[in-house]
Amino acid sequence: MSREKVYDTLAKAIKDKDEAAYLKPFEGAQNKEHARKLFRNLVKVPFTVAKFEELNAGNGSRPVAFVHQIKGIDYAPVYEQYIFEFESKPEHYQVITGFRGATEPYLGTPGSFYPAPWDVYEDMTVVRKGRVMIISDKKHQADTRRFAPYVARAADDDVRTWERSGADTTRLSKGALIVLEPERNVYDKFYKGNGDHDSLEAGVNLAMPKYKAEYEEKAQYGGSRIVMDSSLSRFTSSAWRQGVTDISRHEIGHAMVATYDTSRGPLPVFPDTWIAEGFAGYLESRDNTARASAEARRSLDGYKFGPWVRPADDAETFYAKTAKERRSIYVLARLAIQYMAKKYGEKAAFGFVAAQYARPGKQQEHFSQYLGTDRNGFWDGWYNYVRAQVPNIGAAKG
Ligand SMILES: [Zn+2]
Repeated sequence: MSREKVYDTLAKAIKDKDEAAYLKPFEGAQNKEHARKLFRNLVKVPFTVAKFEELNAGNGSRPVAFVHQIKGIDYAPVYEQYIFEFESKPEHYQVITGFRGATEPYLGTPGSFYPAPWDVYEDMTVVRKGRVMIISDKKHQADTRRFAPYVARAADDDVRTWERSGADTTRLSKGALIVLEPERNVYDKFYKGNGDHDSLEAGVNLAMPKYKAEYEEKAQYGGSRIVMDSSLSRFTSSAWRQGVTDISRHEIGHAMVATYDTSRGPLPVFPDTWIAEGFAGYLESRDNTARASAEARRSLDGYKFGPWVRPADDAETFYAKTAKERRSIYVLARLAIQYMAKKYGEKAAFGFVAAQYARPGKQQEHFSQYLGTDRNGFWDGWYNYVRAQVPNIGAAKG
């Protein structure tokens, strides 16, 4: 069997759910056991594409992309990178003697996107409900089923809000994959290996680059992966229904527009953080204005505010190190999109957000095109809006 034939065999076996056929190219008991575990998780996922492609045909260990697209979730095929070890037998017969996740992204790609939940969990639970697919370890199956209706409803809320606004829907992602994980050291690993630990983060959305997107293509991202820490109070308090709804609307909101992103290569350019987080925060809170106002007054009580203050553009400033500071910036960003939607309408606000994902460098043009104002006009209006919404905000000397 040539290597090419081996990859074909694996893809066909996943499609046919044929475990014996899948295990055939693997050699060694431990290696086969590792492959079996992965296979049994993979067949629980409704893939429309699931195949292995070699990224580099050189000698030695081979970087291999697991190219996949999940039904109802992904807009286009995405990838996860592994390293396969092959051994040549007589008659050019190739066997896989080992495989592991790629720790470094393959040359020219922004990430290896390893590990996925199918690599991490011994036995994975997959719950499908409406527009969402939720994955967890089987030992948390009961909780996952309990949360699923609220996560699914949050996805419906987000998509309907966007659709009703009349904003462009051509590239809107309509489904979401969510991993629920209560152990922080496991949560931190997903899709990025030894990722940074951010103790103030409750959930995260990661945009997944489309596999082999052409440089000129508009869609550079095939979908998103959301990971949420289910040990936090949003999931465990007596108000968990509201908590799960809030965080789901927020993260699924990020996922919904991530497919508008056109940035490419190892150094992607993202929209300003206040736009991404303000939009997600707006979707999270728009149905409950009383609670949103109370939260704004609580978070911004005494906050030093003046006409020069902005919710930060860059991620480093935005994701401040203290909980209080970070919460204040989140609320200021949410109030920016909230003001935009109120003053110019949701269609204009969402159009502006999608345009900023597609072309972050054209902000001045987008203010003019979607809102009919310029940057200063917008922020002046926002300043007065924040003062009116949060009368207890503090004044700062210039
Ligand atoms: Zn967010």
